[in-house]
Amino acid sequence: MEAEFTTGQTDPALALDVKRAQAETMLERLGSTLVTNAFVAASALFVSTIDRGLTFAAAAWLGAILLSLVLRIAMASVLRRWETIEHAPDQALHVMTVGALISGCAWATLPLAVDGFDAMGADSGLYLMMCGMATGAVLMGVGHSPISLAFALPPQIAVMVSLATNGGAGGWLMTINVVALTGVLVRSSRRSEEVFVGNVTGTLKATALADSLSSANADILRANYRLEVLASCDPLTGLANRAAFNAALHTGISEALAAGQQLALLILDLDRFKSINDTLGHSAGDTLLVEVSEKLRGVIGEQGTIARLGGDEFAIILGGADAPEAAREIAGRILERSRQPVMLQGQPTVVGTSIGFALFPQHADTAEDLFVSADMALYRAKDGGRGQWCEFQPAFRSQAERQHQIEQELADALATGEIEAWFQPQVDLPSEEITGFEALVRWHHPYLGPISPPEIVAAAQAVQLSDKLTARVAEDACRLLTRLPMLGLPQATVAINVSPREFDLYSVTDVLDRITQAHDIDPALFEIEITEEAILDTLVAGEQLKRIERSGYKLAVDDFGAGHSSLAYLVQLKVDRLKLDRRFVTGIQASRQNQEIVGAMVGLGRSLSMEVVVEGVEREEEAAALRNLGVGTAQGYFLGRPMPSERIAGWIESHRNLQQQRAVA
Ligand code: C2E
Ligand code: MG
Ligand code: MG
Repeated sequence: MEAEFTTGQTDPALALDVKRAQAETMLERLGSTLVTNAFVAASALFVSTIDRGLTFAAAAWLGAILLSLVLRIAMASVLRRWETIEHAPDQALHVMTVGALISGCAWATLPLAVDGFDAMGADSGLYLMMCGMATGAVLMGVGHSPISLAFALPPQIAVMVSLATNGGAGGWLMTINVVALTGVLVRSSRRSEEVFVGNVTGTLKATALADSLSSANADILRANYRLEVLASCDPLTGLANRAAFNAALHTGISEALAAGQQLALLILDLDRFKSINDTLGHSAGDTLLVEVSEKLRGVIGEQGTIARLGGDEFAIILGGADAPEAAREIAGRILERSRQPVMLQGQPTVVGTSIGFALFPQHADTAEDLFVSADMALYRAKDGGRGQWCEFQPAFRSQAERQHQIEQELADALATGEIEAWFQPQVDLPSEEITGFEALVRWHHPYLGPISPPEIVAAAQAVQLSDKLTARVAEDACRLLTRLPMLGLPQATVAINVSPREFDLYSVTDVLDRITQAHDIDPALFEIEITEEAILDTLVAGEQLKRIERSGYKLAVDDFGAGHSSLAYLVQLKVDRLKLDRRFVTGIQASRQNQEIVGAMVGLGRSLSMEVVVEGVEREEEAAALRNLGVGTAQGYFLGRPMPSERIAGWIESHRNLQQQRAVA
């Protein structure tokens, strides 16, 4: 509409609207026009009869006038009924013009209808009436000049002709005046129509502009609403997204504060979501996320706000007087529901959930702090074996602070050598010969004290320094390997540990190849210990293990028996060594069951050409029992504790002395 208006007067739609307004105005005024007409005609008849009485011609004249008026009323009602003004305003105007012309012509016959018409004498008042009617028609007909002129011109012309023919010299003078008056009437009729059309056009344009503005406004409001929905909604699950969650958390906290109530924030994380995505594909991952969000909706209902924060992380905000109890109860129900299998690619799959939650204001007094607290609780839930919920405890904060400090200082500690490898000897039980060493990472922090290897490994992962950590330990291992021939141990191996999750982070062989080549180390003397988890966990691990084998490093499976390694897979990977978990060794001399397990493992190792190594040998009796079971290599505090590399030469010497003393004895 607005575009059409910019084209101005020539716009046909606007022209039609103007015509409609003209016709409507003329039709509206028709009633009063016709009444005036009838009244003035009756008065004229009366004036004309004063001296001469009623003649047939005069009565017929009035009859003609009235007939014309009736005709115009009929025309008007037809126009209304057929809604001609709406559909064809031009035609309606034509019809009204014809009606006006008929009335005008009837009026024009007045001088003829009056017997012995005395133009300059008694009947001159009738001229006044005729001219007055014509002038009135022009005044009333501002909407459309042809209609008013169609009525006005016939009586004016009749007056001119009548005056010119009947009035002598004075009549001619009057005729000139009437001509001039008629000219003025025509001009003012035209001018009035122009003004009228101008006004109507302006009004219509303004109205259309207002309409288009209000429709544009409505469009903007609708678009805004759509944007708001998009901006606050996670497209996959339809749950609130992170932005909406942040807003809801702040609002929830203000409301809880005002009501003097608690607010619970739960954060959920799916167990092993990444491996589902990796192995079954992203569409299976999406299906899982949608299923989980449906389950959450089923459990929470209208009780709180559920959001997907990204990836496989969800959050729930619970308010109300009983928020803490509700949080515990809901966490339990969610875990219960998550134990029910989900169909992924036609397979029923169980995907566990870990939940952490914290309470406002009990555990934190800002939205940010509450989130951090709930996140710490989630970390605990995952660390505690997954598939559980954990409520925040203030002690978590100091532990997290410690962890944060460790993460912050790790890079420096690696660079300065504060982090280093210590070495624990491995000994052949029957001969007591030293067969190798295992490198174990050590960090004695200046004021936090000793940091445990799992803490160091986790911190390295968190700050993406896992490759640097492995490189550091591998460097120390290579230095030891270079020294060992000089210490009389040319065949001894050195093992390093690689944690399973590191396989997803960097190429282990690339890092090790670079370091072993720089130190000119035979890869057959360099061993990599991985825990069983790595073998099962991801496809990436499988690829990395193959590359380790291709590079010629020895491969050992650490803590064997603690997980669920598939033997078939181990064989396929050509694992060189199985390191039996410490649980089978502790107190073995008194446990028949452990003796049977270790005995069976030694037999299995022999038939699969895998060496079985035991770790955690703390006592002489354990070593003796293991020796009797045919175990070769062993490791443990009884044989030698982990030590810094500078103490190794001394330890080897004292070990040999001890060996000789035993041989002599
Ligand atoms: P692991 O590879 O099974 O290493 C053996 C662990 O048992 C070491 O603990 C060692 O000190 C301890 N140990 C040795 N003999 C005995 C014994 O007779 N009795 C007892 N109770 N313990 C014994 P540590 O050094 O605390 O290391 C713990 C774990 O941390 C290691 O277990 C290994 O999985 C991991 N780790 C150590 N260093 C590294 C590293 O550089 N990188 C990676 N990714 N993980 C490492
Ligand atoms: Mg190990
Ligand atoms: Mg171990």
